[in-house]
Amino acid sequence: MKYPGIQNFINGTFVNASGSRSLEVISPLDGSVLSMVPLSDKADLEKAVEAASKAFPIWSKTPIKERVRVFYRYRELLETNMTQLSELIREENGKTFEESKAEIEKSIELSEFACSLPQLVTGELLEVSKGVECRTEYHPLGVVASIVPFNFPSMVPNWTLPNALVLGNCMVMKPSEKVPLSCAKIAELLKEAGLPDGVFNIINGDAEMVEVICDHPGIEAVSFVGSTKVAKIVYSRATSNFKRCLALGGAKNHLIVLPDAIPEMTAANIAASMSGCAGQRCMAASAMLAVGPVDHIIEKICDEARKIIPGVNLGAVINQEAKERIEKYITEAEKQGAKILVDGRNSTVIGHENGTYVGPTVIDFVTSDMSVAREEIFGPVISIMRVNTVDEALAIENANPYGNAAAVFTQNGGMAKYIADHASAGMIGVNVGVPVPREPFSFGGWNQSRFGVGDITGKSSIEFWTKLKKTTTKWNPEAGINWMS
Ligand code: NAD
Repeated sequence: MKYPGIQNFINGTFVNASGSRSLEVISPLDGSVLSMVPLSDKADLEKAVEAASKAFPIWSKTPIKERVRVFYRYRELLETNMTQLSELIREENGKTFEESKAEIEKSIELSEFACSLPQLVTGELLEVSKGVECRTEYHPLGVVASIVPFNFPSMVPNWTLPNALVLGNCMVMKPSEKVPLSCAKIAELLKEAGLPDGVFNIINGDAEMVEVICDHPGIEAVSFVGSTKVAKIVYSRATSNFKRCLALGGAKNHLIVLPDAIPEMTAANIAASMSGCAGQRCMAASAMLAVGPVDHIIEKICDEARKIIPGVNLGAVINQEAKERIEKYITEAEKQGAKILVDGRNSTVIGHENGTYVGPTVIDFVTSDMSVAREEIFGPVISIMRVNTVDEALAIENANPYGNAAAVFTQNGGMAKYIADHASAGMIGVNVGVPVPREPFSFGGWNQSRFGVGDITGKSSIEFWTKLKKTTTKWNPEAGINWMS
């Protein structure tokens, strides 16, 4: 085991979990055991919530301009620890070093946004009638929880924790049991940055812990990022316990390619979008709708895909189960009559034979009834469907139950606008394959890619992590009294 066993982080200290269940943390790069992660139980969560509840009265009353200073220092620590943090992500998640580094760069950007929050939560004040003022203030909720997936061990935790904490909440985070190491490092850095004990806590665990979090009466709000299946479970369980909940789910992102798209740029974008992070991104291109004669672009996509080599510029998928699932999708499509133009099945990396690699895969002549056309594959695979018109393409995109992202590749501005207006997705790309809105714009999909109101990052997240107090004041008793004063 390369690293010591993972511990929970409660009240500023790493402590053992009381439960006896645990799992191995396996590196997708070579199958080696990196560490052991405990599967905590209800008693562990009680301790974390108690620590957070005790920290809340002081932290929430600390002026926001003081709270934010912790995050200036945290931002610096992310930068100074960039190499070590990136290496840890690479080892536990399997993505390339460059992709891991990009995650830390994004975490820095997210912290920078959190540092701007004092400017955004000044509240409003207005004389609403003669001598009467109404003023609004944002108040934190209390103890909140954040449940995160495996595919971004640093970025997704940093979607929630900087904003929630700067806004005065105290948090219990549950990392993915597949990638718990980066989250522990985040806790270390927050402590080093001066975050008071108890404000941020980590509870390791699996599905059972998620259920206990959704049921805990001391937790006011639950933020979740993961698959749609689990997002639905979490959303309904947390809200049935009268908690605020925002649950982001899976995706099936469609790219609509028109014949006038710039071939080189389009092909490079699509190949990068479908294979970046080994296709394990909720913003990855998964289905391409080829409108009319675009064979010249498909050829170039295949050329680009062939330049993406497992173990060189393509990372591993998270585990053997994921590799088998992805390869099964490809085989099924082939059996149903689709044509595999670039085949990533049975990939191995010499010297890393126990790593779980799937090469980039381009599947053509997919029909909309095939599972590769409808379901989230979460691997470096693009399914190409041939259509005759833009409206046919939009009908397929609209019919998909997900709605995270959609993109169009064209040089025709009017057509791009038409597609952007009619695609049923929360994040749209025009000649951009991975249209992640950068700060201060917020991140969030539509349809079954998100349950709850608002987005998870940016300005939109302020509403989720706070409650608004409205105070009406009158200082001049001589002002007349009527129903509006
Ligand atoms: P997952 O849903 O399996 O797990 C997410 C979290 O839920 C983990 O912490 C896990 O321990 C817990 N969990 C797993 N099964 C559970 C169950 N039955 N009941 C309660 N909790 C459970 O997701 P994952 O495999 O870790 O991550 C990949 C998925 O996340 C993909 O579907 C991807 O699209 C999605 N994702 C979405 C976004 C977004 O912004 N919409 C971002 C990142 C990832």
